[in-house]
Amino acid sequence: MASVLILLGAPGAGKGTQSSRLAGSLGTPHVATGDLFRANLSQGTPLGAQAKEYMESGQLVPDALVIDMLFDRVSQADCATGYLLDGFPRTLEQAEALDTRLSSSTHVRAINLDVPTESLVERATGRLLCRGCEAIYHKSYAPPATAGECTKCAGELYQRADDAEAVVRERLTVYEQQTKPLLAYYKTQGKLTQISGDGAPDEVYQRLTACLEGAA
Ligand code: AMP
Repeated sequence: MASVLILLGAPGAGKGTQSSRLAGSLGTPHVATGDLFRANLSQGTPLGAQAKEYMESGQLVPDALVIDMLFDRVSQADCATGYLLDGFPRTLEQAEALDTRLSSSTHVRAINLDVPTESLVERATGRLLCRGCEAIYHKSYAPPATAGECTKCAGELYQRADDAEAVVRERLTVYEQQTKPLLAYYKTQGKLTQISGDGAPDEVYQRLTACLEGAA
């Protein structure tokens, strides 16, 4: 039976960090719509050009663009038995489109990483990404061994333009209005588990794996 795991959470909640680790240990593809858009942006594709303005201002890219891009990605052979979604869905329309697409036999589970708002701003504004392998660091909580350099691949580290404080605050407002209602959506379907995303990445990871093992 195919299985789709959805990691939900506000910007800065740790979805990217936890998803890439979890996908690695589960051996399942990590499908992150933000990463797909950033790849389109850096490759200068028409989709990247359409998404750019929305991303830079902290707004959501229109549903039709996101849904087409996501469905293209999950149609690939590596996703046939399941995948882990990070950053999708972010609106009710996206969640409904996903439900319509998945067969009724697909096992769907949503886990929300719950983090207090004050921590979210600090986490997002301190985040650094590797241009080479997309590893995620934090200036204070998870610094690289050498400043400005990825500890895994020696790639250059950079701050996402949309991690500037004003944009992060806008992204949090957008989250409250458009994405938070998904918690009720998945709760009503009996598919939601809430876990605390507060604390060090290792602690959160232990909670996540305990929660997945408990459900096995
Ligand atoms: P992320 O890396 O998940 O924080 O996404 C970065 C940006 O990409 C978001 O702020 C949005 O502009 C855009 N984006 C990513 N995923 C979605 C989505 N599911 N729906 C709409 N916009 C998205």
